[in-house]
Amino acid sequence: MPRSAESPNASWRFDNSYARLSGDFYSRVEPAPVKEPRMVLFNTMLAESLGLTPGALHNGEGAAILSGNSLPQGAEPIAQAYAGHQYGHFTMLGDGRAILLGEHLTPDGRRVDIQLKGSGRTPYSRGGDGRAALGPMLREYVISEFMYAMGIPTTRSLAVVTTGESVYRTEQLPGAILTRVAASHIRVGTFEWAAARRERNILESLADHTVRRHYSNAAGLAHPYRAMFRAIMEQQAALLAQWQCCGFIHGVMNTDNMALSGETIDYGPCAFMDTYHPAAVFSSIDHHGRYAYGSQPSIAHWNLARLAEAMLPLFDESETAALEWANEAILSFKELYERRWLAGMRAKLGLPKQTEGDRALAEDLLDIMQRKSADFTNTFRQLIAGHLEGEEYREWLARWQKAVGTAPAARKKARDLMLRANPAVIPRNHKVEEALMSASNCGDLRPLNRLLELITRPFDHTVNAPDYQQPAPANALPYQTFCGT
Ligand code: AMP
Ligand code: MG
Repeated sequence: MPRSAESPNASWRFDNSYARLSGDFYSRVEPAPVKEPRMVLFNTMLAESLGLTPGALHNGEGAAILSGNSLPQGAEPIAQAYAGHQYGHFTMLGDGRAILLGEHLTPDGRRVDIQLKGSGRTPYSRGGDGRAALGPMLREYVISEFMYAMGIPTTRSLAVVTTGESVYRTEQLPGAILTRVAASHIRVGTFEWAAARRERNILESLADHTVRRHYSNAAGLAHPYRAMFRAIMEQQAALLAQWQCCGFIHGVMNTDNMALSGETIDYGPCAFMDTYHPAAVFSSIDHHGRYAYGSQPSIAHWNLARLAEAMLPLFDESETAALEWANEAILSFKELYERRWLAGMRAKLGLPKQTEGDRALAEDLLDIMQRKSADFTNTFRQLIAGHLEGEEYREWLARWQKAVGTAPAARKKARDLMLRANPAVIPRNHKVEEALMSASNCGDLRPLNRLLELITRPFDHTVNAPDYQQPAPANALPYQTFCGT
């Protein structure tokens, strides 16, 4: 039986449309109770923007709800079913350690999933324990909130609650639960799962649900599912361009980790590139560099081809016609992406209008950066500050100045554009690790809060925090020095 609503004043307004789909799409399962829930991070601004009452959540009762120990009124907890290509191989999956409490309706008319991640075993857990460790949940909180501050579509993080229990990975770690807020959790893998059932009405009900939820403009058209597929491609092209322009490496771009809402989802071994290199990869399990920085756009393309395969029966009654349409549609991704990427790079370089040489200018800068092993973020900061020095840049700088224009007004315009397009601070990997270690091992949240304070206003170029703005020194042992300070 559902546990009672303990927080009548939090202003939840649940309306659970996914749970109204047929039971094929999910399993009803409640979060496993935890021993001693304690709020570690609570996102007051996000709570307010969702129409929730922070005062009713940012306390003991809030910790009980956001750990799954008590259910808010209107919640209908489920684990969602999905499949996915993981590192290229097809697998049946599902929420193995997450539970969707329901869809909350915000006062400004949005519908958002409220999901607990790390909330216990489900029918999809396979060998897993259904739990999450504090460090990775804090990492998701930090990185997702940075992405949001950058204006990059992303799931958000409402809270991190520790469970008072240990989880066992290679070592014993404090357990935690993240409350994730998402436009939805419909993934490429959800369609792959529906397609694997080989029943048209299952696939169609998911497609109709997705149209209603994210692509309502497609609803009245002659070919709504084709229109939705094209719109999904456009959203992914835009998203990938934004990732590339800020040096974000997702790390596990499996099809189950690509959301059809166009939001960045599932922050696992993700990282920001410091030294520019297309082959940059951080995930310790990505031995072949499948998800390296420079490969991300083509992996997105590959994932979209898997989506097209899954949606195939929806494109046309005739399989041949459907295939023909899908093949042609999928071919356009590269161009969609290139156009978005170029627009992003133009903003980063402060180029006011589109000209012939833009692409070469952007690519040539990246080539020099690669040869020099330059820091990705700071190269653009140096360009803004007029400090991009060195023989290698001389000829390039002359071309750039010509493209920007030499009149004071043109230069000011370029500068303003660049200040809005290039972050002054990113979550540097060593600072993220330092903050997580300190919180996880020493219970000291100060470094984490300092990091959050800086990275949630990334375009504040008046910030002067060199230790957060420089890459890790080559010989640094950043983690050892931290505990006890
Ligand atoms: P991910 O790579 O984090 O997107 O996870 C891939 C799949 O493994 C998803 O179906 C997850 O729900 C599942 N999973 C990850 N960690 C656990 C865990 N500790 N217990 C159970 N399932 C898990
Ligand atoms: Mg996942």
